[in-house]
Amino acid sequence: MEFALNEEQRMFQNMFRDFAAKDIAPHAEEIDHEETMPASILSKAANQGFLGATLPEEVFGAALDGVSYALMIEEVARACVSLSVVTAAHVSMVAMSILEAGSDAQKAEWLEAMSAGEVIGAFALTEPDAGSDAQSLQTRAVVDGDEVVLGGVKTWVTNGGIAGLFLVFARGAEGIDAYLVPQDTPGLTVGYREPTLGLRSASFNTVYLEGCRVPLTNRLGQAGGGWDIARRAQDRMAVALAAAGLGVATDAIAVASKYATERIQFDVAIAHKQAIQEFVANAYIETEALRYLVYRAAWLSDQGQSVSVEASTVKAFAARVARNVTNMMVQVMGGYGFMEDYPMARKYRDARSLGIIGGPTEVHQLRVAQKIFADLDVEIKL
Ligand SMILES: Cc1cc2nc3c(=O)[nH]c(=O)nc-3n(C[C@H](O)[C@H](O)[C@H](O)COP(=O)(O)OP(=O)(O)OC[C@H]3O[C@@H](n4cnc5c(N)ncnc54)[C@H](O)[C@@H]3O)c2cc1C
Repeated sequence: MEFALNEEQRMFQNMFRDFAAKDIAPHAEEIDHEETMPASILSKAANQGFLGATLPEEVFGAALDGVSYALMIEEVARACVSLSVVTAAHVSMVAMSILEAGSDAQKAEWLEAMSAGEVIGAFALTEPDAGSDAQSLQTRAVVDGDEVVLGGVKTWVTNGGIAGLFLVFARGAEGIDAYLVPQDTPGLTVGYREPTLGLRSASFNTVYLEGCRVPLTNRLGQAGGGWDIARRAQDRMAVALAAAGLGVATDAIAVASKYATERIQFDVAIAHKQAIQEFVANAYIETEALRYLVYRAAWLSDQGQSVSVEASTVKAFAARVARNVTNMMVQVMGGYGFMEDYPMARKYRDARSLGIIGGPTEVHQLRVAQKIFADLDVEIKL
């Protein structure tokens, strides 16, 4: 059993940490208040290889292994959870789906541009009446000659406002299909950014598809193969979101414990108060437990193993840890933890999203329960 990062992973970790501290963290507060993700930040992230993180070198990807990618998302989330989510949706959900299921022509058309950040990807699965139960989606895909006509409404599309390419899931004759739909396709309309509690510099939009025609060659994978593509993307995203939870929890502890050494009450730094020590210690214990679950899930996927249960396990745990830890760290900072001028309020708001984005915790728990009971020959339905 080996718990250490290898030399290359440690080198990447330092590189990601330096970049996040220098080029992301100084802007995180401002872009959150302005509810925007500036092109300049995305362009810097692309130059660092973040937007093609796990894509191969042939398409100018950074060819990171899963553990290094988790380290990257963790470090980005320490500085800005929104950017980690924008990046993970683009890489884990869209670019990797094209790499895994795309034709040579689709890979050639999109992957280089996605690595370079010239095209941002968005994953359009959820609908107004199909959230946790995404498989019940109603968007239609009707074949007309060598084209397909898409009609329906997609909600909660991360990157909707900045995407050049939408991976749209729709019901066709043989089940759920996946289609690559460029943003400028007539019949595709992006609605305004939904106002949200957290992740305010990412954009979440409703996308309307009305008589939206794309060539049949834009279908990703086989007819009826869309659900499998979506599930694999969700598993990758679950591990990435867990890494984001690890990042935000780690930074929350760093920020609040430093504050506790500086804040004087009753003539001593509050770090000397046992209640504060307990908050910080408990937060650290939970976060370290999460750290090894995240790295393990990423490592297992590097071994080519299916990580569906591990992805759900770590995602459900990360959502809980990130919420608990940021909640405790708000308490450590007292009134300043509640103030928007300090970073803890943003971290707390952002961490809350992790129990819903990428599927609610309850559904991930059900997937874990399904596995436990399947081992006892009992089938549990979602
Ligand atoms: C910030 C953010 C970003 C997102 N980005 C994307 C994206 O890029 N692309 C995309 O397609 N979707 C995206 N989503 C949508 C997300 O996947 C859904 O919000 C999520 O799957 C839950 O669906 P819902 O919101 O409709 O909640 P519902 O399905 O209505 O569920 C509400 C609650 O009911 C409970 N529940 C539901 N089903 C069960 C069950 N079987 N057992 C027990 N309890 C249950 C859970 O507590 C759940 O929170 C995003 C969501 C958020 C918040």
